[in-house]
Order: sequence, then C-alpha cells, then structure tokens
Amino acid sequence: MKSKKRSILLIYTGGTIGMVNDPVTGRLRPLDFEHILNQIPELNQFDCQIDTRTFDPVVDSSEIQPAFWIQLIRMIKDNYDIYDGFVILHGTDTMAYTASALSFMLQNLQKAVILTGAQLPIGTLRTDGKENLISAIEIAASVDEKGYPMVPEVSVYFEYKLFRGNRTTKYNAETFNAFISPNYPLLAETGVHIHYNLDAIRKVQPSETLVAATHLDTHVMFLKIFPGLSTQTIREIIKFSTLKALILETYGAGNAPTDPVFLSLLKEFIDRGGIILNISQCRAGSVDMDQYETGHKLKETGVIGGKDLTSEAALTKMMYVLGLNISLENKKNILQKPICGEMRE
Ligand code: ASP
Repeated sequence: MKSKKRSILLIYTGGTIGMVNDPVTGRLRPLDFEHILNQIPELNQFDCQIDTRTFDPVVDSSEIQPAFWIQLIRMIKDNYDIYDGFVILHGTDTMAYTASALSFMLQNLQKAVILTGAQLPIGTLRTDGKENLISAIEIAASVDEKGYPMVPEVSVYFEYKLFRGNRTTKYNAETFNAFISPNYPLLAETGVHIHYNLDAIRKVQPSETLVAATHLDTHVMFLKIFPGLSTQTIREIIKFSTLKALILETYGAGNAPTDPVFLSLLKEFIDRGGIILNISQCRAGSVDMDQYETGHKLKETGVIGGKDLTSEAALTKMMYVLGLNISLENKKNILQKPICGEMRE
C-alpha cells in the first residue's frame, strides 16, 4: 500500500496533564490546550499531521458524566473518515470508565482510539505526561505491513504500557504506573522499540463499518456486599422504581451470603424485570457461580455472571446494553458474553 502522511486527531478533555497550580488556592486546576502544546515542541517533529480539538471547559475527570462520553463519541464519529487515529488526553481518575464506555459505544472500530494523561502536570520537570503523549501518538499513527492500524481498538497508554481500555483499572494514585489490566495481557510495551502483542490485539475486519452509540441508560447502581450489609438497606434500594439494574460486587469467585431474606429481595427485583450482574470484588480472576454453594444460590435467584469484568467495564456495559432497544432476555445474553474483548469467553 502506498504510504501517505498519517493524520491524528488529538482531543483534550482535561486532567492533571494540563493542570497548573492556582496561585490563590494552591490547588491544581485545568488550563487550556495551548499550555500543553507549548510544553511539547517535539510534537512538530512527528511525520504525521496532528490536529487538535479541545473540550470547553476542560475538566478534572472526576466531573465526567455519560453526557460527556456521548459528546466524545460524536466528535470521533464526525472526524472518523478524516483521521487515521485518535488520542484523547483525559484525567486518570475516571479514564478507565471513559475507555470502557467508548469501547462499547464504538462498535466495529477500525482505528486506534488511545486515552492517555499524566500523574504530574506537563509543566513540571519530572512530568510523565510528555512520554505518555508522544508514545500514544506514535502508536495511534502506526500501521502494519498491510497499512492497517496496529491497534484498532480503544486503549489506554500509560507509563510504557498499552492496555485494552475496557480491561483497565486505576489502582495507584501515587506512582507513574497508575493502571493495571489484571485479567488481560498488555497490548504493547514501549522501550527502545515498541513491542506489539499481536495475539492480544483486536483484528480488523475491513468489511465492517463503525456503529457509534449515542444513547446510554444510567438507571443502574453498584451494590457491594460486605459483612454487616443489612437487608433493610437492600429493601430500600430495590424500592427505587426507576432502578433497572444492579452490579452486585461479591466475594471471591462470585459468592454472597445465603440468608433467605437477602436472596428473596434480589429475586423480587429480578422478577419485576431488574437485572443483577455478579462481578467479583477481587481484581483478578473470574466469577463462577457454580463453584460454591453460596454463589450457586445467587444463580438460582436469576443473578447473571459477569465473569472477569472490571467494575468500570461492568457499569458502562450495563449502561450501553440497557440503552439498546432489545428484549430483556437479549440484554441478559449480551451481558454474559464478550462483545468487544471486555471479558473472557
Ligand atoms: N484528578 C485528576 C483527573 O482525573 C487526576 C489525574 O488526571 O491524574 O482529572
């Protein structure tokens, strides 16, 4: 294939990477895109076209809501045919949620969409933001021998590692390696060279076209099991008439108490059309409701298994699936199998 100059759209949403210390409060707050671009003159050395878009206002990612994901999806969709890849600068706090949401909302993706950010602002001497941004752009612009993007999926690049977006979780608020992917191998690792883990990277199907979802249903909440959780609390929660789904965070391989009142409340919610998805409080490993009696009881009430989903992927997948115009049974089927590499087969 004839090589032409690649083009990347760099989208700035906010986060520490672009923050400065407010001289009045002494706290970090986001600053405009110009500030970042001025700190990285190396961007001009890339042999690819880099255009930029910025959200207005730019935010600390703790402010991010599903409406923001929809805005981001529209931005990518509107520019999808113009650019070869997308790099999104985003705060680390909710990056795993955004990466997971985008992976479900951008079905049949054929191009790289890479989220990155920093633990230290770009203007500080020891910033990790420069390397993160430069490598993310390089990976987003890379193609294989056939001219297809090297990583045609939503991913997170951080501290020399490229992760599948919907397998990623933030686990460290202090060190530069802020993210882990406990249940899926790295997509790539950067050192002197970039090593791509081709077996782990999604394969492009050239005949497929992008399907971008712009509707999410947020009537969902987490329920984390803990010793002392009262059935009265659960009774109050399931009383919310607008609640459509619960992500049940259970122990170990998907276990919870077998108290008949607790189980009957879950059943009551399921019988009135609610969905309960079982994921584990453990970072690594998978839910298997047939392994223990305590897990099996949940299965008997109609709770469905989320295997090795992260909580970020479970939540955003639930919002995406609830938003689909399909039957309840189909929703439950989709929730139990991988649709974009977010869980094991
Ligand atoms: N609070 C910041 C944010 O998520 C943290 C960061 O970017 O590292 O926007």
